[in-house]
Amino acid sequence: MGRKFWVGGNWKMNGVKKEIDGIINFLQAGPISPDVEVVVGVPALYLEYVKNKLPCSVAASAQNAYKVPKGAFTGEISPAMIQDIGVCWVILGHSERRNVFGECDELVAEKVAHALESGLCVVACIGEKLEEREAGQTEAVVFRQMEAIACKICDWTNVVVAYEPVWAIGTGKTATPQQAQDVHRKLREWLCTNVSECVAETTRIVYGGSVTAANCKELAQEEDIDGFLVGGASLKPEFIQIINAKAC
Ligand code: PEP
Repeated sequence: MGRKFWVGGNWKMNGVKKEIDGIINFLQAGPISPDVEVVVGVPALYLEYVKNKLPCSVAASAQNAYKVPKGAFTGEISPAMIQDIGVCWVILGHSERRNVFGECDELVAEKVAHALESGLCVVACIGEKLEEREAGQTEAVVFRQMEAIACKICDWTNVVVAYEPVWAIGTGKTATPQQAQDVHRKLREWLCTNVSECVAETTRIVYGGSVTAANCKELAQEEDIDGFLVGGASLKPEFIQIINAKAC
């Protein structure tokens, strides 16, 4: 069976109820191809509100979760809490979590493992910084980030890997389809060598970094790009065109 195209919207720390209602309106209007799995990453405070209003073709996701079920961790939320309100997804290791809040590979991997053990589906984000790309270290960086996760998990069924070059996030600088495809192919080869052929064939590897309605179709044609994680453009009606990038 082929890999179902997957498109996520990462709202980051954007949207109050009035703006959120606007996003929900265009998601309800669609159309959303049944061939695409759609997930939106919502600020924790609004997860339940959004979950109750989304069309059934769109799932809600948390944008972060801690590595244990409960305890003295002020300000954090746990996978158990996310599950408790009926939300099934969490985005982990986003470049803003890694680079603004200092999350290291080890912590991201621990969070991924705990979220999976708790029954959530995980969007595991990886990607290199500009200086790392310019120093020819892209492969080494993304392989190191994958290795940290692979050391802590056995089952990749509920993992979507999001390759998001840091230099392309929120900058308007998209990786070319060839640049993205090259890294996605290497990641799939890495999974084949280091995990299994089956996991390499079935795991969705999605691209993130300034994806828009204007560039999504070309990116979607690449063999190893199984969808997108979209920041800024997921707040706008053009997100519908991105969702349907492969379908029409
Ligand atoms: C993101 O936040 O994951 C992202 C890719 O942002 P943007 O699409 O705005 O670059």
